[in-house]
Amino acid sequence: MAALQDKFGRAITDLRISITDRCNYKCVYCRTGNEGALYGDLPFAVYLRMARVLVGMGITKVRLTGGEPLLRKGVVAFVRELAQLQRRSYGAPAAPFRGRADEDVRRSMNSDLLDIALTTNGHLLADLAKPLKDAGLTRVTVSMDAVDPDRFARITRVPGGYDHVLAGIRAARRVGLWPLKVNCVLMRGFNEDQVIPFGMFAREEGVTVRFIEFMPLEEDRVWSPSTVVPLEEILARMAEYRPLVEIPHARSETARRYRFEDGIGEIGIIAPVSHPFCGHCSRIRITSDGKIRTCLFSVWDHDLHAQMERGASDAELEEFIRGVVAKKEERHHIGEPDFVPASRTMVHIGG
Ligand code: SAM
Repeated sequence: MAALQDKFGRAITDLRISITDRCNYKCVYCRTGNEGALYGDLPFAVYLRMARVLVGMGITKVRLTGGEPLLRKGVVAFVRELAQLQRRSYGAPAAPFRGRADEDVRRSMNSDLLDIALTTNGHLLADLAKPLKDAGLTRVTVSMDAVDPDRFARITRVPGGYDHVLAGIRAARRVGLWPLKVNCVLMRGFNEDQVIPFGMFAREEGVTVRFIEFMPLEEDRVWSPSTVVPLEEILARMAEYRPLVEIPHARSETARRYRFEDGIGEIGIIAPVSHPFCGHCSRIRITSDGKIRTCLFSVWDHDLHAQMERGASDAELEEFIRGVVAKKEERHHIGEPDFVPASRTMVHIGG
């Protein structure tokens, strides 16, 4: 059987599963200030079956996200179950693996082990880092949008989180959840002046800081082109601190990578707005309520859970998934006159 591919020849190797759309933070670029989930979540056994079927179809990396995934009780046990899934080997893929860093591709091709990653706001990570690592988590990405406690609270709209997140990052590092990436969404008027402080942070903490351009996926509908801090501006700001050298990267990489000239510290820039990379997208997502989304900006989703509820066999689920993946969108249309907002916002998709 062929590995999972869309009609543009992109190999689909990365799966993101949102295990809840609840979140304990209310970040200005993501959520409104309200509480609670819109769509709810499903028992872990449901996500596990979905993951098992998809891994059997060529998925090599599963990233848990949300909402805030660490709010879900039982997440450690779920990671342990995921780690039991054996990757299916397809040999050389029909099209080159795309949408990944070279090192990631090498790692995933050299092992039958599933690559299991987590994106978290880090608030609850300090106590969970070791159990997660022991359960089989491979790596973690922590979202952090300021390196100043007051500014951090203004963005997350929750007091007192900064110290928890810092402790979470340090615990992850200590237990060897590596590579450890810190994601910072830049939003004009909130944190564009944090570029240099994050450069210092990357060097001091030994983490890769990745700046992400703000996308129109927020609940508050405040996005406009002028709220985006584009790649060139990030580079110009950082150059005032220290010279950067671009690290040669595969066309497939979502982040452009740079190291400081003295070799200490690395940063990345993910620029989906100013430099889209849809042509190399290797992802599909499952929402917390069991829908497949083929693009962050999809205007519809596909109810995999409903297929399970009606008693579909694994073979029928595979057929359903192949049909959905075939329809994956070619690209997003951010900033274009025909842009239609996604049918869900980021917190209810799973970033
Ligand atoms: N709660 C977890 C966290 O904070 O990382 C996981 C879910 S969060 C929705 C996943 C990622 O999406 C985070 O790195 C967050 O910064 C990013 N994100 C949320 N809204 C975004 C937006 N409008 N544009 C770009 N990135 C966004």
